[in-house]
Amino acid sequence: MNHRKQFVVEPGQKVRLAKINPSDTGGPESREEALAETQRHVARMDALQYLLYANAEQSLLVVLQALDAAGKDGVVRHLFSGMNPQGTAVVGFRQPTPIEAAHDFLWRAHQRTPGKGEVVIFNRSHYEDVLVVRVHKLAPKSVWSKRYTMINDFERTLRQNGTRILKFFLHISPDEQLARFKQRLEDPARNWKISESDYSERELWSDYVDAYQDALEQTSTKHAPWYVIPANHKWFRNLAISRIIVDTMEDMNLKLPPTRVDLAQIRAKYHAAEQEQGFRGTSPADAGPGE
Ligand code: AMP
Ligand code: MG
Repeated sequence: MNHRKQFVVEPGQKVRLAKINPSDTGGPESREEALAETQRHVARMDALQYLLYANAEQSLLVVLQALDAAGKDGVVRHLFSGMNPQGTAVVGFRQPTPIEAAHDFLWRAHQRTPGKGEVVIFNRSHYEDVLVVRVHKLAPKSVWSKRYTMINDFERTLRQNGTRILKFFLHISPDEQLARFKQRLEDPARNWKISESDYSERELWSDYVDAYQDALEQTSTKHAPWYVIPANHKWFRNLAISRIIVDTMEDMNLKLPPTRVDLAQIRAKYHAAEQEQGFRGTSPADAGPGE
């Protein structure tokens, strides 16, 4: 199953979220099969990240956006647990601090983009500046409406500098959201996740849908595609996202870097010295006179 083709928003495509089934499970796969396959993808992501880090030429930026309780945190926990923390980072975007608010909206995002060899996950992102800002009228339309072009330019700059960008919108239904809020209210382990604003934001659902549709239509590009992921079923959400990440990383042609030193010479020099002295850990300074 090619989930990239299935769920991508083609550049210029109209998006009607009401027509995309959030309970879709993409085919006949059972939950058990999906869990096993997701585990294989997570292992592969780990192996590919090792190559990305070793090579240090390209990088990967994963953007997660969604309404509350759609599973952004779950995606981070389930799919990125296999990657080496050295070379990986998760960045959460909250209300801008005074310093952030004093700068252009891309400033804080640009500071946290991945360096060469790194994987960065944006849990929310610069897209909040055309989503929550629009819905709550935190800036006038004359300000936020210019941001789509700025975002496209920004992401093109990253892409041209070796960063692959994958953007996922986790698509859930209002009923599923309500059920998850209820779990958060009732399960002591999840109480900390619920707040009154979750319920008040929910009343703005259709405004958020409008804002998301515009963002998806105007900023899904060849260099930074959006994927709308059916997310009512957590197991399918994880399967689809992990598969798209693996497929993309496979396309990056990641290889171990070429050896930059003369291995034969180093082996001859140090391995021989080690045997002579009868212990491991000989430093170059101990290697003997004339070395
Ligand atoms: P959470 O993801 O639950 O930690 O909540 C973070 C909150 O910060 C959400 O309500 C976001 O909408 C809000 N937020 C993130 N970015 C911005 C922004 N640029 N302007 C205003 N609010 C934001
Ligand atoms: Mg929240």
